[in-house]
Amino acid sequence: MNRQPLPSLDRFRLLAAVLVVAIHTGPLGSFSPAADLWLTRVLARVAVPYFAMVSGYFLARGHWQGTGRLWRHTLGLYAASVLLYLPLNLYAGNPVGWRGLVFNGTFYHLWYLPALLLALPIARLLAGTGRTGWAVAGLLYLIGLGGDSYYGLAGQLPGLGALYEVVFTLWDYTRNGLFLLPLFLLLGAAFAPRPVPAARPSTWLFLAGLGAMTLESLALHTAGIPRHDSMYLFLPLTMWGLFGLLLAVNGGQDRAVRRTAALVYILHPWCIVAVRGAARFLGLRGLLVENSLVHFAVVVPLSVALAFALQSLTGRRTLPPDVRAWREIDLAALRQNTALLRDALPASCALMAVVKADAYGHGAVPVARTLQREGVRLFAVACLSEGIRLRKADIRGDILILGWTDPAQAPVLRRWRLCATVADADHGRALSAQGVPVRVHLAVDTGMHRLGIPAEEIGTLAELFALPHLRVEGVYSHLCTSDGTSQADRAFARQQTGTFVRTLALLRGMGLDPGLTHLQASYGILNPACTAGHTFGAARPGLLLYGVYSDSNPVDHPLPLRPVLSLRARVAAVHRVPAGAGAGYGLAFTARRDTCLAVLAIGYADGLPRNYGAQGGVVLLHGARCPVVGRVCMDQMLVDATDLPTPPKAGECATLIGTDGAGTLRAEEVAVACGTITNELLSRLGSRLGLLVRDI
Ligand SMILES: *Cc1c(COP(=O)(O)O)cnc(C)c1O
Repeated sequence: MNRQPLPSLDRFRLLAAVLVVAIHTGPLGSFSPAADLWLTRVLARVAVPYFAMVSGYFLARGHWQGTGRLWRHTLGLYAASVLLYLPLNLYAGNPVGWRGLVFNGTFYHLWYLPALLLALPIARLLAGTGRTGWAVAGLLYLIGLGGDSYYGLAGQLPGLGALYEVVFTLWDYTRNGLFLLPLFLLLGAAFAPRPVPAARPSTWLFLAGLGAMTLESLALHTAGIPRHDSMYLFLPLTMWGLFGLLLAVNGGQDRAVRRTAALVYILHPWCIVAVRGAARFLGLRGLLVENSLVHFAVVVPLSVALAFALQSLTGRRTLPPDVRAWREIDLAALRQNTALLRDALPASCALMAVVKADAYGHGAVPVARTLQREGVRLFAVACLSEGIRLRKADIRGDILILGWTDPAQAPVLRRWRLCATVADADHGRALSAQGVPVRVHLAVDTGMHRLGIPAEEIGTLAELFALPHLRVEGVYSHLCTSDGTSQADRAFARQQTGTFVRTLALLRGMGLDPGLTHLQASYGILNPACTAGHTFGAARPGLLLYGVYSDSNPVDHPLPLRPVLSLRARVAAVHRVPAGAGAGYGLAFTARRDTCLAVLAIGYADGLPRNYGAQGGVVLLHGARCPVVGRVCMDQMLVDATDLPTPPKAGECATLIGTDGAGTLRAEEVAVACGTITNELLSRLGSRLGLLVRDI
């Protein structure tokens, strides 16, 4: 069992949310005011900058493509939170004014949401400006610092004092979206393009920063300087160490924990009110409120429990009740992969998105629509019907058919404005002979011997350019060893590239314009040595868009892609099978112990390989790996769930590809266990499977 380390970046959000609860409950207040001051005014001050950093980091990893979405999501969360706290505002007699709504948040903890709404566009703007951006964010932080824990000093300076007077007519504090958050969004973003830092120096940096912050806070408080105590000179340094340390452990994502942390943050003031109310009602104020530690220790689990309850309610709603087995598509991951790919390609090389085979089982229409919205203008499919389907779904860019098209379909090609591949000379002549203008790309065979006019037949290629009804808009070839790892594989790919480049030069020398040139598919991008520095007009990745590799072989230039697809199925039934009994077709499985068998409602008619369990295949149940046993049937498969602490129940959900709780099964691992590659595994996932498209 190869367990992935837990994604600590998102997990720490939960701890940060608990630190925020500490700020608002003062856990050590009734024991040692000094210790409480340190806990809530020094240590816990890492929480909010951390939220900003982790947002900045993930945004920058997606090339800031997700900024608008996060902004809208934050706006929605803020609107809901304003409503949620309205009763408390009314009860306390606090009117909700525009200063509260726009600047300070309508309840004490809600300031972060309007602050983030302001800081996101600022950081997005600054992120593109290099050093200027850092200078501006740093200066803003220093101004904020002067209005926060250094106010006793900075407020005395004539110019600054006047500035703060203006600032404080809008905000109650300078720890806001203008002065505090932009720097931390940028600091988080700065980690995205860097190699993962080493844990040890980061730990020392964090401890040193925290020590310095402690002394700083002590000195400032002794001298009576702070107006507020959210910002310190040493806070950015401390955060750099802390973030590096967490990233070194594991920089992955865990959305469930992220949502829980956000809910704990939003809900905890209501829990504080509830605990106080309950304490008064029960006559337990001495224990539940005045004992600060008990108070904290009750508020935290209550907030977490409430967050979980809310999540499980909404979680259940997203499970499609009528579907027995389905694919789940994460469009945010697709967008991120697209951005990464575009970044990996030279600026002059366009992205031709390969969405054949129903976008490798992901659903061609939602995938192509999403890509179109991201500005992709070139698509490739395998056959005519796939192209027509995209046109019917309003995909407007160029669509190239990579496979063979019956020449008699020339009028259909024209009607749907599709571009055909000329598979060989006879095919080209037959297409032209239909008498209607056809847009084509010429395939050149540089050694794969699949489709294409042999590169040596330059005269034939030139002749195709001259045919009356062919409009040659592109010339391309395909590498057949770019996914190999051996020297010979690479040498062959370089040889194909050389042949292709020479062919293009010969055509140009004859005064012919090859139009759009393209050679690389996914592995030609991952292994740039294959193309030896040559660049073309476009590249044709398929697999990489979907965030997976073919298998687990190493590549030269890996990309931090996110898998787009998860595959899930419901548990149809659960049986106890005594030791010695067999199960499934041919009784291929024999129980060696008393066994708990879960029957999943998915089988080879849904596109699963029939030998799924034969070489150690597993599925996730309750987040844990359970072996697939026996032969996969047409519509069901059997899973050994004996080792689960609680047996599964009918109707529950199993994960065949994707994440469930702490467990993750990658498509690469599943493909290898079935003796194939992800290209085949994914593209065969059948239309009988439901398709659940998520966009967050
Ligand atoms: C399928 C295909 C691609 C895409 O291949 P990936 O390895 O998935 O990137 C590109 N070009 C041609 C000709 C193809 O058939």
